[in-house]
Amino acid sequence: MSHFSTKTISFSMIGLLITSAAQTADAFELSGSKWFGAETVIYVDMEGQSGTGILWNTAFIAAMDDWTNATPFTFAVNEAHRDPCTNDGLNGVDFAEDFCGTEFGNNTLAVTVRRFRNTLLGAPDIVQADIVVNAAEAFDVFDGNLVQFGPTFGKIDFRRTALHELGHVLGLEHENIKAAIMAPKISNLDRLQADDIAAVVALYSGLDNCAIKDLNFGLTNAALDTGDCTVQDLTAGGEDTSFIDIYRFELSNTTELEFSMTSLTLESVLLLASADLNYLDVDSVINDDCSSTLDATLPPGSYLLLANTYDEPIKEACQTSGAYQLNVAFLSDSPQALGNNSSLQGGLSSAQFSGGITANNGVSFGNRFTPDDSLDITATITVDPNHVGQAGFLVVAAVVDGQILLLNEQGAFIEVGTNPDPIIRAVNKTLEASETLDIVSDLVPAELGINSITVDFVIGYGLASDPAEIYFHQVPLNLIVAP
Ligand SMILES: [Zn+2]
Repeated sequence: MSHFSTKTISFSMIGLLITSAAQTADAFELSGSKWFGAETVIYVDMEGQSGTGILWNTAFIAAMDDWTNATPFTFAVNEAHRDPCTNDGLNGVDFAEDFCGTEFGNNTLAVTVRRFRNTLLGAPDIVQADIVVNAAEAFDVFDGNLVQFGPTFGKIDFRRTALHELGHVLGLEHENIKAAIMAPKISNLDRLQADDIAAVVALYSGLDNCAIKDLNFGLTNAALDTGDCTVQDLTAGGEDTSFIDIYRFELSNTTELEFSMTSLTLESVLLLASADLNYLDVDSVINDDCSSTLDATLPPGSYLLLANTYDEPIKEACQTSGAYQLNVAFLSDSPQALGNNSSLQGGLSSAQFSGGITANNGVSFGNRFTPDDSLDITATITVDPNHVGQAGFLVVAAVVDGQILLLNEQGAFIEVGTNPDPIIRAVNKTLEASETLDIVSDLVPAELGINSITVDFVIGYGLASDPAEIYFHQVPLNLIVAP
C-alpha cells in the first residue's frame, strides 16, 4: 500500500510529433497504468481511404492486430463510430480539425487521451482511451522510409502513426533511447520494435515477477522483508515499493473465509484479488495494533490473498518489514479441494484430493472447532486412472507441532520421525477410481483431554509395486481446535 491518492478519475494527453525537442528518460519507463484483463475494445469507423487506396479503417485495424499478435494484450474491434471526444467509457478514433475543441500543437500528428480509475494497489487502471488524428496532416499508408518519393511524396504514414497511438492506449509512454515505434517523433520505423513489445510484456506480466505460494488454511508463519516482491514488481510500475507476499487458493464451492494477519511489529495489510489481479477487498479497519483482518464470502473460483504492508511507516509502533502470522478460517457447505498434487519421489499423477471436517454431519465443513464439537474427518482420493485396479495402499499423516504421525491399520496415529521408513499404511487394498477415507468419526477433543490443538492432515496413496512413492496433495486439511 502506498499513501492515499486523492484522484479517482484523472486523464492524460499524449501526442505524436513530426519533430520534437530533446527528451531524457530511461528505456521503456512504465507508469504502471494498464487495462485490467489486458484487453479492450476500440470503436473504428473512420470515413475515407488513403491516396494509395487503403481504407483508413483497414490500416488502423491492421495496427491493432500487430499489437495483439505480438504481445499479451488483445485489441478487439467494433466497427461502429464513437466520438473520441466523448467521455463515455468507450474507446473511439477519428480524424478531426482540432483536438476536442483545442488546437493541435505544432507538428502534432495525433493525440491519445487516457482516463484512469484508482485501484487498491499500484498505478491507476486505464478505463478509456481515445485517439484524435490531426485531419490537417497529409496522411497516406506506406511502408519504409518516412520521406517518400513518387505518389506518396510529402505524406505521413497513417499506419505507423496508429501503431504509436495504440501503444499509448495500451499504457506505454514515450521511448527516448532504444529504437521504438514509441519514440516521441515519427521515424523510418514502420513496424513494432523489440523494445515496444518488451514494454507491453513487462506491463502486463507483473504476476510473473513474484513468487506465488499455495495458501494453507490454518496458520502460516512468514515475513515481509528485503528481497521480497514489491507492489512495484507485482503491478509493473508505479511508486509503491512496499513488500508483498502472494498466496493462491481455489474454492470449489461458496465459502465463508476469515483471514487475519497478525504481527507485533509489521504494519499489516490484507487484500483479496481474483487470480488475474482484480482487487476485490482490502482490510480497511485501522486498529491500534499492527494486525489486519478481512472477512469474505466468495463464490467458487481462483483467488489471491495478498499480505502487504506500507511503503512508509503509518503508526509509531509498527514497521514496514518483519514477521507475521497468517490465520485462515473457513466455512463451506461441502469438502474442499486440497490443491495441486505432489509426490515423494517426483512421480507424476493426475490424482485429485479433497477433504472436509464437520461437526454437524456434513451440513457444513470448516477448520475451526471447539473442544466439545464431535468431529468427523473424511477425505476422498480420485486415483490416477493408470493406478486404478493395481495393488496399493492408503496413507494418512497428521502434522502436529512439526511432528509427523501416521495412521495405522488399527486406526491409531503413531508418531514417526521426519523420514519414516517403512511408511506406515492406513489400508492395503486394490485401488479403486475413488477412495474415501474416514480419518476420524465422532471425535470429541475434550473427551481426550484436548483443549487446544492445530493439526494438518495429509492423505496419499501408493502402489505395492513402488512402495517408496506416495502421491499426495499440496494443501493440508487443516484442523484448529480452540475454546
Ligand atoms: Zn506519443
